[in-house]
Amino acid sequence: MADVSLKHVYKVYPNGTKAVNDFNMEIKDKEFIVFVGPSGCGKSTTLRMIAGLEDISAGELKIGDLIVNDMEPKDRDIAMVFQNYALYPHMTVYENIAFGLRLRKLPKEEIHNKVVEAADILGITEYLDKKPKEMSGGQRQRVALGRAIVREPKVMLLDEPLSNLDAKLRTQMRAEISKLHAKLQTTFIYVTHDQVEAMTMGTRIVVMKSGFVQQIDTPKNLYNYPANKFVAGFIGTPQMNFFEGTLLKTGDSVTVKFDNSEAEITVPYSMLYKARPAYLDGKKKVYIGLRAEDVSLAEEDIKSSKSVIKIKVSHKEELGSETLIYGDINMDSDGYGEGPTRIIIKDSGEHELNAGDIIDAALKVERIHLFDKETEESVLPRVPEYNYIDCEIKDGKLKFFGAELELPNAVKCADLKGELLIPTDAISFDGDLKAEIVSCENIGGVNLLALELNGNRLYAVSPECIEGKTVNIGIDFKKITVISDGQAKISPMPELNEFACKFVKQKTKDTVEVNGKTKKKKVVHFGFTVGDTFFEASDETSQKIFAALGIRDAFTTALKMECGAYHLSVADHGIAAEAKELLDYGTEKFLKCMIGDSAVYVKCDEEYNGSVCLLPDFEEVGIVETERDIKIV
Ligand code: ADP
Repeated sequence: MADVSLKHVYKVYPNGTKAVNDFNMEIKDKEFIVFVGPSGCGKSTTLRMIAGLEDISAGELKIGDLIVNDMEPKDRDIAMVFQNYALYPHMTVYENIAFGLRLRKLPKEEIHNKVVEAADILGITEYLDKKPKEMSGGQRQRVALGRAIVREPKVMLLDEPLSNLDAKLRTQMRAEISKLHAKLQTTFIYVTHDQVEAMTMGTRIVVMKSGFVQQIDTPKNLYNYPANKFVAGFIGTPQMNFFEGTLLKTGDSVTVKFDNSEAEITVPYSMLYKARPAYLDGKKKVYIGLRAEDVSLAEEDIKSSKSVIKIKVSHKEELGSETLIYGDINMDSDGYGEGPTRIIIKDSGEHELNAGDIIDAALKVERIHLFDKETEESVLPRVPEYNYIDCEIKDGKLKFFGAELELPNAVKCADLKGELLIPTDAISFDGDLKAEIVSCENIGGVNLLALELNGNRLYAVSPECIEGKTVNIGIDFKKITVISDGQAKISPMPELNEFACKFVKQKTKDTVEVNGKTKKKKVVHFGFTVGDTFFEASDETSQKIFAALGIRDAFTTALKMECGAYHLSVADHGIAAEAKELLDYGTEKFLKCMIGDSAVYVKCDEEYNGSVCLLPDFEEVGIVETERDIKIV
């Protein structure tokens, strides 16, 4: 039983393949986590790093309270079950299960009790005297599971354990593994390429693609709120239907128009409050996503629906309990293509349909998904990153949604009309604007407040759900962006300062005490230089650098230091920098300085000019390998 924590974990194989990029996750004790994604996406590599079978290139892996990056697999208190059960053919089931315990020289009686108990849990008691070859695939996989559970590991790791089994057995074993998890009350991490397995077993699922985590969420949330087109298409069968199209807002409604088709539906604008207005101009392309079960051929649905489209039927697949109807929303299509207007509908099978029929279908508009055509990210993220608002700047005042705010000096700007981007985490609850609270929703641990400012929708993330009807809000001006004529006229202050550094070795002659006598001794110090300034690194940091870069390359690889404005201060010693100006953001001030060519921002209330020294708070400093963009510390 243990939590597992992965922080900025990377894997780069010696041949340069970046198999895992910046994997971050906190796995809670007793969770059943599934890593899923197509072949080669990095899921096995991640699991093998947790197991200790693969070195971690950078990052921190914790099991329980221990950092285990450099711990031998056998000391990690984990057990692993693979696709090929790798049982010893000459041993009985009993001996196979007992083998690991015997190696660890446990008393005979204890081994016996554990084997009998595991066999009982897995329902293989009657096979204990049999050899693996006398057993079916499912039974053998149970023996492999038995071998893992007798070790009573803190974490069970399973790498595609069911992929050698036939479909029926897989379904059965799926249920059994879920039951086993409930019984053992242990953290399970399970790798599969099969989304059905992931959806049926995981308490949370990590969807991966090309070494990058795409989304981490519960099965239900992945299905209902996919963050991007890849997740939307990967989860659910048949695959979500995707169409290209556009959105046009007119008053309080939005027309969703499908390309290469007459199909067009209208949805209330309230469904699209979270969308950037730029999507609603009738020109910007989006992908429209519709699941097969969200299209209905039922007569009563078609009669009552305002969102009916025409479909030309091509063929159907009877699956017994349901029928998949293949068609096209382009009436000119030949109906057999895999073209961009093809649609699959899940139907009860009661409808008599023939190829070439043109039928009506009702869309469940509230279940429509929309994705950006280029980035493929959802146009309607559950927790939006920004509020996008039309604005005007006049005489140093920012006007939006009927409100007017004096711009602080740091973001003063000439008169313009443009788009204001306020991050949802840049709305504070202590300003002068009065907003009405519409709702507060807890989404994956984040409180999303829907607010109304003079009748216009604003979203804010808040440390807690605020009670009451109205709230005072303000804006953190250092986080806003204003775009006009396609250019950013006001840019946010970077969240992290970055400047070049080097990892170096310094030798000093230190006075040390040996047997009561003082002696001069050569001592090696590892650390970082920024310009000419040396900072000694902690042993832990040095080890991380050596582990990630190797002893030879550690001193020659280009690195950068990352450090937020609140973790850099003006001091009487430190990094040599040039103070440029004191930026007043209203509630806070920051000193803009240059370290070489890099602009950095320092939390500071005093004006400085010319040369200053800056001291980073090393507890909060990150070290990044510049070329491969890997966060090492
Ligand atoms: P998955 O389990 O999702 O199928 P893997 O984690 O096995 O994917 O592999 C991720 C990527 O790393 C793939 O591109 C694969 O080719 C590569 N890879 C895996 N093992 C090695 C290795 N030992 N050396 C080099 N590249 C590897």
